[in-house]
Formats: sequence, C-alpha cells, structure tokens
Amino acid sequence: MSERLVEPELQEDDLDLSLRPSSLNEYIGQDRLKENLKVFIEAARTRHETLDHVLFYGPPGLGKTTLANIIANEMKGNLKTVSGPAIQKRGDLAAVLSTLEAGDVLFIDEIHRLNKSIEEILYSAMEDYFLDIIIGKDSGTAHSIRLDLPPFTLVGATTRAGDLSAPLRDRFGISSSMEYYTINDLSKIVLRTANVFSTGVDEDAVREIALRSRGTPRIANRLFRRVRDFAEVYNEGYITRDIADHALDRLQIDEIGLDRVDYKVLEGIQERFNGGPVGMEALASSIGEEPYTLEDVYEPYLLQIGFLNRTPRGRVITSKGLAHLRKHQGRDKPI
Ligand code: ADP
Repeated sequence: MSERLVEPELQEDDLDLSLRPSSLNEYIGQDRLKENLKVFIEAARTRHETLDHVLFYGPPGLGKTTLANIIANEMKGNLKTVSGPAIQKRGDLAAVLSTLEAGDVLFIDEIHRLNKSIEEILYSAMEDYFLDIIIGKDSGTAHSIRLDLPPFTLVGATTRAGDLSAPLRDRFGISSSMEYYTINDLSKIVLRTANVFSTGVDEDAVREIALRSRGTPRIANRLFRRVRDFAEVYNEGYITRDIADHALDRLQIDEIGLDRVDYKVLEGIQERFNGGPVGMEALASSIGEEPYTLEDVYEPYLLQIGFLNRTPRGRVITSKGLAHLRKHQGRDKPI
C-alpha cells in the first residue's frame, strides 16, 4: 500500500486537478526557474511572439505538467497534451501538430520515450514550423508534401534528459532541471491544499507531512489526503500532529519519507550485494521491482539525500544510508 502512495506516476483524479496552480504567482518553489520563466514569458508577450520551446527534466511529480499548463495560461494559448509512449506512428504526431493554432502549447510528456523515427518529425516542426508528409506507400508513387504550421510552443517533459537525442535536445531554446522541493516550500503546498479542501490543520502537522513527502508535491498532496481520511474518522476532520504521525506510520512511510521499496533497495544492496557496487538491473530483479521505476522514482531521491552513490560499476550504499538502516533495525520500519 505504501508503495502505491509514494509511486508518483499514478493517474491524477479530478481532486488533483483542482489542486494545480494556474499561474506562475501561485506556483510554489522552483524559484530560479520561475523567475527566469517570468522574464521569458513577458519578453515573448511584449514582442507578440510565441515562447521558445521549453524542456523540463527531473523526477516525476515535481510540477512539469503543471508548468506546461501555466505557460499556456500565461501565453493565452490552448494546451494540447500527448505522451511519448502513446504516440505509435508518425501520422499520430503529425495529426496532433496539424490541429495546432497560433500561440498554442503542445505538451509532450515523457518525450524521451518517443520513437526515434517519429521524433524526427519534430525537428522541422520546432525549427521552421512545417511538416513534411509522405503520401503514397511505394517508391513509385510516394511523394512528400509540405504542411505549414502556425507558430507554437513545444513543452517537453522528461525524467531522463540523458535519453533525449542531441538533435531534439538542441531544438529547445529553454531547458531546465526541476529540483526537489524544500521542506518550507512543501509545507506551503500542503497548507494550500488544506485550504482548497477547507480542512483545519495544525502547523506542526503540515510540517510532518512535508517532511515525509520526499521533496515531491504530488506525494505531499497524496499523503495529505490520506491523513485527512484518518482525521475524518478519528478527529472530526481536524488534522493534528498526532493524527498526522499516526496516519503516516500506519501508511508505513518513515520519518524522512522512505517506504517499503526504499528499504528493499537499501537492504538489498547491503545484504545481497555486500553494500555494492551493483547494477540497477541486477538489484531490481533480486528484489522483484521494475528497473525503470527504481531508476526514475526511488534512486534519484536516495541519491539526493546521500543514501546511495553512483559509481562507474554500479550503486553503492553510503555510510549515511547504512546508519539509517541500522537505526531502524528491529524497529517498526516500513516492511
Ligand atoms: P510532473 O508533471 O512533474 O510529474 P505535475 O505537474 O503533474 O508533476 O505535479 C503533480 C501535482 O503536484 C499537481 O497535481 C499539483 O497539484 C502539484 N504541484 C506540483 N508542483 C506544484 C507547485 N509548485 N505548487 C503547488 N502544487 C504543485
């Protein structure tokens, strides 16, 4: 159960959508990125141009989709959203591109998972706003026609900037990594969520939820909603620190936000591979988890807090990671 709570790739529902900030001023944290975007947006608006193409990269749940929405709002364009793996054929992407109107924002989530031959369509679309469409199948009758596109902004999001091909990466005029959020910023996000839901909450309960959210707004919101359920049943809906503690313990999220899978990763490296180094594939199969999820969701946070190190021969557990495991040995840890 805790796995599912931390896993930030779960589908959003309507309540989540109501939590999305719709302007840059409402968007909490990522200050450097936000201030830069404000300048680029204002400059583009002053020149009556579209915003240059933007690439956001970083772990899931940090607000990339939210920013794409905000860019469309601020530029007063429509937002069209597609996801890299969902686009199967060149024609699928061409069809989306051909519906764009001047000033629209096309958001491609998981853009690194676009098939290479499909991705090539984007080069001319991004650079010179046109599409080459091949008509006819065999070499005798096939010919290409050029379809002009209106000026638009492509916003790409990826958890793996390194997996993007160089020609695609080079066509983004603005490119920024997303950082994990500070406890203060996460606290503001939790408080904002409490206000949206009209839920009463103590200050130290807000902080407790923030502390256990692994620097990730989507997780903060999800934990908040589960804590709110406990408050509903045990305290007439009001969230105190005790309620938050109790709920998060019951959800098997430890005091720094680690869940069962994090423990499996750390213990797996320590016990089965003698502390490492071990490759992600080998580790994933030994603990029965998906390598992709481990690499995109779990590993980045464990690296960030200094519990894991990456070496050329694989991942190793650090003394800090080991100390955390020892501290929890024999205690009620998320298993
Ligand atoms: P990503 O696209 O990076 O996976 P999302 O943009 O879908 O992340 O964000 C996940 C959720 O977290 C959103 O529903 C939104 O409510 C919340 N969120 C993200 N960033 C912020 C922020 N800076 N301020 C407030 N809420 C945020």
